[in-house]
Amino acid sequence: METKVIKIDDKHIDMELINQAAKLIKAGKIVAFPTETVYGLGANGLNEKAVEGLFKAKGRPQDNPLILHISSLDQLKTLVLEVPDIAYECRKRFWPGPLTMIFKKSEIVPYIITGGLETVAIRMPKNKIALELIKEANVPIAGPSANLSGRPSPTNASHVIEDLFGKIDMIIDGGDTGVGLESTVLDVSGDAPMILRPGGVTFEDLKEFIPNLTQDLGTIKSDNTIVPKSPGQKYKHYAPKADMYVYTGNIDNVVKSIINQSNKHIKEGKKVGIMATTETKDMYDKGTILIAGSRNDRNTIAANLFKTLRIFDEEKVDIILAEGVETDNIGRAIMNRMMKASGGKIINV
Ligand code: AMP
Ligand code: MG
Repeated sequence: METKVIKIDDKHIDMELINQAAKLIKAGKIVAFPTETVYGLGANGLNEKAVEGLFKAKGRPQDNPLILHISSLDQLKTLVLEVPDIAYECRKRFWPGPLTMIFKKSEIVPYIITGGLETVAIRMPKNKIALELIKEANVPIAGPSANLSGRPSPTNASHVIEDLFGKIDMIIDGGDTGVGLESTVLDVSGDAPMILRPGGVTFEDLKEFIPNLTQDLGTIKSDNTIVPKSPGQKYKHYAPKADMYVYTGNIDNVVKSIINQSNKHIKEGKKVGIMATTETKDMYDKGTILIAGSRNDRNTIAANLFKTLRIFDEEKVDIILAEGVETDNIGRAIMNRMMKASGGKIINV
């Protein structure tokens, strides 16, 4: 398949190009587009055939439901049975933005979108290119991250090209995404609002006005595996090619442990990648050292996490030793992604 790559500047949006992309979406084709979280892989969310193509291009398991991206409140009302008061409140504060809400679905939402569930995930993205594209296409756009299933999510167009060139119809290059991690998923379809996936809008942000807010920590089955309420959370995700270990705890201990481990692996002839931070980088001297961001502003770590994992892949390191972060605020989303990327190999020191 021929993949057309077009560049759109979000400060001077070329509506001619948006129109080209919207036409493809309306015709059932697949277009990757920037959002403020990560790049999305877009298809008409009400066209089952188009959505099937989306799952295929990504290699995504069909029981992992998709998020519908919308550009207006009117559009929301056609897709859900009811909009609870708390959803209005969240929308006022966080839409457009990195918050996805789960509602009871209306009849027009196909089950291929929801993985067979009676609920549907909906978000209004903040990126202007994304909003214009949805408006012009005049349909809700299904938009999982525009990466091959399992790989780190794409935060710029070159990541999308790497994973999906030749498999989709168009890629809109709109520069780097801002937040860098996927949206927070908040279930408002039940009695008490529950966070199913941590993201850019934090537990602390929501708790402020949702006193009965809870978080899904997964139910533990008899064989000790964890069953999350959000189907997608059970899959291995965001994984670099190298084996990854994440160190948490007192930062001096973390650095010491990483240096010890790194020396051991280097002696064995392995190529070691170290994911450091601005504050600690000078303490390491061996290995491929990358700075994910600053411990004083963890949003910078969120923004660079997936990109850093992809650079380690390019550098062909055998092993990645990463510094963890505190799990309050945005740290919770960062550690959730690091846990998945490492396959749960978190070492508290
Ligand atoms: P992604 O498209 O990769 O950002 O993933 C979307 C996330 O939203 C996945 O973790 C899905 O499991 C979750 N999700 C989508 N729809 C639902 C739903 N109806 N109920 C629970 N989780 C959902
Ligand atoms: Mg994804």
